Amino acid sequence: MKCPFCGYLDSKVVDSRPAEDGASIRRRRESLACHKRFTTFEVMETLPVVVIKKDGSRQSFDRSKLLNGMIRACEKRPVSFDTMEKMVDEIEQILQNEMNREVPSAQIGEMVMDRLKDVDEVAYVRFASVYRQFKDISTFMSELNKLLQEK
Ligand SMILES: [Zn+2]
Repeated sequence: MKCPFCGYLDSKVVDSRPAEDGASIRRRRESLACHKRFTTFEVMETLPVVVIKKDGSRQSFDRSKLLNGMIRACEKRPVSFDTMEKMVDEIEQILQNEMNREVPSAQIGEMVMDRLKDVDEVAYVRFASVYRQFKDISTFMSELNKLLQEK
């Protein structure tokens, strides 16, 4: 969602609540560039999103599956359910706003990892290890090192 003040394309959602009609949602967003806040009014689209799996098979997007994956990754970590739900909301919203109704599962995985990385590193590495199916400890270590170098 483009910032109306500086035009920057990335913003974070600071609050969201359904509008009275229930079919749309108001979101309070903050520009990641200038940190000014603005409100967006988003209409929920009900078209299904289709996920293309690695083997080429298709499956309709399942929000609860995504949330469950996050819960597993965040087990015993200081990440609230609310935070996880917000990440899922955000990903779902992005997918709904895509013109393309078919999204590769890899793209969704990357979106989750991007967010987990900022929230909890252990959860991120857990998710990434399941998701990228690290074959051995060296792949795992190189991913961990990459993460540490980014700091
Ligand atoms: Zn801005």
